[in-house]
Amino acid sequence: MCSSDLRDQRTALARALERLNEIATRDELTGLPNRRAMGELLLTETARHARLKAPLSLAVIDIDRFKQINDRLGHAAGDAVLRGFAHRLESELRGADVLARWGGEEFLLLLPGTDAEQALQAVERLREGLRLQPFDDVEPGMRVSFSAGVGLCLGQGDIDSALERADRALYRAKAAGRDRSEPA
Ligand code: GH3
Ligand code: MG
Ligand code: MG
Repeated sequence: MCSSDLRDQRTALARALERLNEIATRDELTGLPNRRAMGELLLTETARHARLKAPLSLAVIDIDRFKQINDRLGHAAGDAVLRGFAHRLESELRGADVLARWGGEEFLLLLPGTDAEQALQAVERLREGLRLQPFDDVEPGMRVSFSAGVGLCLGQGDIDSALERADRALYRAKAAGRDRSEPA
């Protein structure tokens, strides 16, 4: 085999590996990092922030009454809402923040270098931004809202508890009427 064939094979292999990595770490529907990728990011970022003695916050974000969208307009429309929701939020994120699809119609936002109060403000901005962007392509004038639980994560050993606290805050936001954020 001549050296240019070898080079071609190496390039093809590198591309295939890149593609595999993409498949393993991206959510296919929204293009966001998936739960696995976010799990790994949580581990590295909590460790890094502990070293830096910098705060790190997270927000569990859940679309309001999403099931009704599926029931009323069909699963394909539900999928279009999930894609549009992800793109709208992503377009409003600050540079270091990372949004991932955590499962179903639930998303996890990681806010590096952000304390609890700032995180709540950031999520409120996302909520306001979403309010101004109807999903006209799915149905003219259609609005989609979310509820969120937002709080600090205190380090690698606190990830599971921080997620539980945020989940409980999310539950309170739903119980209080939805379309709101609650501190964890
Ligand atoms: P709440 O305001 O309390 O959050 O109500 P909800 O209807 O948003 O929540 P619920 O958990 O009852 O329903 C979530 C629905 O999301 C149920 C499930 O079928 C749907 N779902 C989950 N993943 C997908 C997906 O990838 N595509 C579509 N179209 N629907 C999905
Ligand atoms: Mg929901
Ligand atoms: Mg849900």
